[in-house]
Amino acid sequence: MQKYIKQAAAKIYDYSGRKYAYGTTSQMLGKKISGDSVTWVRNTYQVPYTYAIMPRDDGYYGPALPESQLLPACRDVMVEMRVVRALQPLRRAFARAYCNKMHDPLEHVTGIEKRELLAHLAGDCDPFRIMPIKRGPGTRERPNLVPSAFCQRLLACSCHPDDNHVEYMWLHQGVPKRCGCGYWFELCPIAPL
Ligand SMILES: [Zn+2]
Repeated sequence: MQKYIKQAAAKIYDYSGRKYAYGTTSQMLGKKISGDSVTWVRNTYQVPYTYAIMPRDDGYYGPALPESQLLPACRDVMVEMRVVRALQPLRRAFARAYCNKMHDPLEHVTGIEKRELLAHLAGDCDPFRIMPIKRGPGTRERPNLVPSAFCQRLLACSCHPDDNHVEYMWLHQGVPKRCGCGYWFELCPIAPL
């Protein structure tokens, strides 16, 4: 599990520059505790793996994040969830270990869901390209490229780090567009999954 959380932390760092520590509960809190919600979920629902995410603030606000950090924290969690969602190797290993009780999910899905699982197994945790993209220069000459398998895509721009809302706009293939914040965006055609 820590291997995947490590990947998620690296992805978040690539995107937002925010460093997340990871480890066991006692490592993170510096003390041993019992009766926490993670343990309760594992024991109550008999799930093999559980984990918790601590808020991104590194000391001043603690768990009570200020308004300005709410949206960035949600983006961090979205990146993290996409990586952990791609835990197919782990899920399949678990299914094999309990083969009398569970079936291998890869043998039971079809169509686009199967292609998504295969992409996860190949190491691609975001085959639909829905994870946040870190903006580059975003000039008219070097616009931020937004991948899409379609000729148009709805884009949400987080214009300023302290904003608690995003600006939506449609991007059409071959028509670069400038957001109100000044950044340019352009659709980048990719093959469908
Ligand atoms: Zn913007």
